Amino acid sequence: METKYIFVTGGVVSSLGKGIISSSVACLLKARGYRVTIQKFDPYINIDPGTLNPYEHGECYVTVDGHEADLDLGHYERFTDIQTTRANNITTGRIYQSVIDKERRGDYLGKTVQIVPHITDEIKRNVKLLGNTGNFDFIITEIGGTVGDIESLPFIESVRQLRWELGNNCICIHLTYVPYIAAAKELKTKPTQHSVKQLQEVGIQPDILVLRTEKDITPEVRRKIALFCNVAPEAVVQSIDVPSIYEVPMKMHEQHVDEIILRKMGIAPEGEPNMAPWVAFLDKMKNTSGDVTIGIVGKYVELQDAYKSINESLFQAATYDGRHLDLRFIHSEKVNSENVGSYLSDLDGVVIAPGFGQRGIEGKFVALKWCREHDVPTFGICLGMQCMVIEFARDVLGLKDANSTEMEPSTPDNVIDLMEEQKSISNLGGTMRLGAYECSLSPDSIAAKAYGTTSVKERHRHRFEFNNDYRERFEAAGMKCVGENPATHLVEVVEIPTLRWFTGTQYHPEYSSTVLHPNPLFLSFVKAAIEYRNSKNNK
Ligand code: GLN
Repeated sequence: METKYIFVTGGVVSSLGKGIISSSVACLLKARGYRVTIQKFDPYINIDPGTLNPYEHGECYVTVDGHEADLDLGHYERFTDIQTTRANNITTGRIYQSVIDKERRGDYLGKTVQIVPHITDEIKRNVKLLGNTGNFDFIITEIGGTVGDIESLPFIESVRQLRWELGNNCICIHLTYVPYIAAAKELKTKPTQHSVKQLQEVGIQPDILVLRTEKDITPEVRRKIALFCNVAPEAVVQSIDVPSIYEVPMKMHEQHVDEIILRKMGIAPEGEPNMAPWVAFLDKMKNTSGDVTIGIVGKYVELQDAYKSINESLFQAATYDGRHLDLRFIHSEKVNSENVGSYLSDLDGVVIAPGFGQRGIEGKFVALKWCREHDVPTFGICLGMQCMVIEFARDVLGLKDANSTEMEPSTPDNVIDLMEEQKSISNLGGTMRLGAYECSLSPDSIAAKAYGTTSVKERHRHRFEFNNDYRERFEAAGMKCVGENPATHLVEVVEIPTLRWFTGTQYHPEYSSTVLHPNPLFLSFVKAAIEYRNSKNNK
C-alpha cells in the first residue's frame, strides 16, 4: 500500500492535546495491523529542545538514538510502543540549518533562497523522509503551535502543497476548542469557526475536526459546526475531558475516528482494531484496590510536565501492580534536616529526580539520608543516582566534602566526575552521553531480578559519571555497583542490598516505559513500595 499521510493541526489555543490525539490515532491504526509512526514538527528556531527550560517546555525526552526531543514523542512511544528517532522530531531551526548549509555549499546554483520554495521544500522533504523508507503505512505528522502563528506558516503552507501532491493519500485533522460559557449555559462554536476559516484562508480544508470540550457536544452543535466548517457531520468528533489520557484512544474509536480516516483514504475498514490489551490496562486502571503513595523529590515540582515520563512510568507500574497512584511532589529546595520527616514519613516510596546544577541538591541529600536510615524504597534517577552516591560518600564513607565536579569543581573527593576521555572533548561541547547504551547487571541484584535478565539497554542524558577510583570503598561499605557498561565499565546502577529497595540508575528507565510494556524497574519499585506500605499497616 502507498504511504498515507495524516496531518494534525491545532487552533484557538495551545495545549489542547494534539500529541494525545495523534498518539490515539496511531494506537488505533496500529491495532488494526498497520505500520505507523508519528513525527512532530516544532516551529521554534532552536535546533532541538535539549537546551530549553523545563519551565517552558516540560521534560526533554530522549530517543534511543540519542536525540533530545519534544515531550510529545514520549506520548507517541507510550501509546504505541513504537520507537522514535531523531527523524521523528524536526524544528524550524533544523530546517533552516539544512537550507543554509545547502546554500553555503552552492547547491542552489546562485538562486535567491526563499521561504517558498526552499524552506517549504525542505519541510516537505523532511515530512516524507520516514515515509520514503517503505517501513510505514501511515505517517502521522503533528504540527506544533497554533494555526495563525507567524512561525507555523511555512509548515502550514507545506501541508497545503503536500495535500495537492499526495491527493487521496493525505488528510488533515484539525483540533479546536469549544468553550462552555457557564453563565449562558452554552457551548460556543465561534472560536472553532474562526480557526477553521483561518485554515481555509491558507488553503487547507480539514477532513476531520476534533473538538476539545469540557461538556458533551450536542448533536445540534455538531451539525452547526459541520455546516459552517464544510466538514461531514460524522467527521466532527469530540474529545471530552477524561480522568486519564489513556482513555482517549477508545473515546476516538467509539466515534469511529479510525474508520473515518481509512474511508477518507480509500481503504474499506475491515473488522475491529485489536484493542484488547489496551482495554485490559484500562480495566486495571479502573479497578485498583487502594493507593500507593510515591513522592518525587525534585526542583521543578511546580511544573509536573518537567517529570512527565517519570510520572507516567509510575502510573503505569501502579496500575499493573493493582494500585491507584497517589503522587506527591516535594520541592527539594524546601527539604532540610528539621522538616524532612514531615515531607517523607507518609510516603511508601521516594523517587530522587534527575536534573542539572546545584539548586535544590542539598535537599536531595537530606531526603536520601532519611530514606536510607528509615529503609524506605528509594529510586534515584540520573542526578538522583549521583546524589545517592554523594550522600553515601559523605555520611557513610566519611568523605565530608565529597561532591560531583558539576556542583563543586574543586571538591577533594570527586565521587562523580567527568571521565578523562570526556575532558579532552569538552571544548567541543560534545560531552553529553545521550541515547541507549548497554548495561550488564549482577545476577543477584534487584535490577537484574526486576528485568529478568542481566543485559539491558536504556537511554542516557548526562555528562558526569560515577568515579571508578572510589568503587572499592563504596562496595566495602555496602553500596554495590551492580550495573556497568560492558565496554567502558562506567557504572550504570548502584544498590544497597541490605535495604528493602534502594537503587540508583545513571540511565533514565522512564523513557522506555509504555502502557503495554511498563518498565520492569518501575514495576519492581512500586511493588516494593506496596509491600512497605502493607508492612507499615500491619504494625
Ligand atoms: N547533571 C547530571 C549530569 O550531567 C545528571 C543529568 C540528569 O539527571 N539527566 O551528569
